[in-house]
Amino acid sequence: MTDLSAYRRDTQILHAGRDPDANHGVVNPPVYHCSTVIFQSLDELLETRRDRASGAYVGFTYGREGTVTTRAFEDAVTLLEGGYRAVVTSCGLGAICASLTAFLSAGDHLLIVDSLYGPARAFCEDFLRKFGVEITYYPPSIGAGIEALMRPNTKVVYIESPGSLTFEITDVPAITSICRARGITTIMDNTWSSPVCFQPLKHGVDVSINAATKYISGHSDLMLGIAVCTEEAFVPVKKTASGSGYCGGPDDVYMALRGLRTLPLRMRQHQANATRVATWLQDRPEVARVMYPALPGDPGHEIWKRDFTGASGLFGIVLNACTDAQFAAMLDHMKLFRLGYSWGGYESLCVPTYPSDLRSAEAWEAPGPSLRLHVGLEDVEDLIADLEAGFARLAAAA
Ligand SMILES: *Cc1c(COP(=O)(O)O)cnc(C)c1O
Repeated sequence: MTDLSAYRRDTQILHAGRDPDANHGVVNPPVYHCSTVIFQSLDELLETRRDRASGAYVGFTYGREGTVTTRAFEDAVTLLEGGYRAVVTSCGLGAICASLTAFLSAGDHLLIVDSLYGPARAFCEDFLRKFGVEITYYPPSIGAGIEALMRPNTKVVYIESPGSLTFEITDVPAITSICRARGITTIMDNTWSSPVCFQPLKHGVDVSINAATKYISGHSDLMLGIAVCTEEAFVPVKKTASGSGYCGGPDDVYMALRGLRTLPLRMRQHQANATRVATWLQDRPEVARVMYPALPGDPGHEIWKRDFTGASGLFGIVLNACTDAQFAAMLDHMKLFRLGYSWGGYESLCVPTYPSDLRSAEAWEAPGPSLRLHVGLEDVEDLIADLEAGFARLAAAA
């Protein structure tokens, strides 16, 4: 494969992780379905044991440990995020769990953002606490104030920016510079941005997690996770992920790599459509608040502008007070913003959110119900008409 470092991002993303000349000229890398790997000799088998013992992880030994297909995807995402190497897992939550358990032991202290992805919070509460990890949730706006929450046993600071459901921006460099000075590992969930809009390792983060289920694959048809690591973080995360049984299926990895090729193009259109929809929503009398850091005036806008190179199509809104029947009248009959979990595919989606259930560091105040919208790649005027019809049903049900 040619050296891609001289190229710009859109060019890199098309060529990363593939080598047609080593593959009969076929453009896309082949899919390796594999459990067993045959060794030519005892010495070759022993070499793979030395490879694992040294932490090199260069060779292939067994399907669970990674295949040619997973390596191609790992290399591509690593190039885009500027890491040392990456680890593929069976889903995004797997990458989160493997990364946390890689660095935490009984008696350690974890600082974790209060606006994190709900199932990651449940993993902390239901599993990490059970194994004796101390956990403190910090407000997403904390910045350098995080230092006051650190204890002598603080091992990991976990960031998600913007946060799930409420989309607050965290000052990543302010946190990572403090963690670096104290030898504390930082892990960041980068799923909202994808590798296109933010590169956590360039801002001092040690492990960057993407649920490839979302934007990277981009078609709502697979589950996959990836953790991009610094050189120091790679072996602990790799060992923990494969030691805990997390591995990606070959066809899913192939599809994610295929999705990656159009990621920049899709992200630009998601941002353009979402900005138009969010701006329209801001002026609606039914809407109390739009939570989208790409909008001027959003509390996170200045830091977003400073650190991010784009925005995705996912944001939140808070409605003014309405009855349950009005809310249902709106949501039950959406034609384009269909009700469903996940996001990052080409299509628009919508779900009601309940941020107050997932807050402990700060109270969540809102006059009415909250929604998360994923703005897809449809014609944006059709999307606005769908929302407008929804608001008409909401008013009619009063
Ligand atoms: C969906 C999601 C995940 C988990 O990814 P899965 O592949 O669904 O396990 C992690 N973080 C964020 C922010 C997500 O939205």
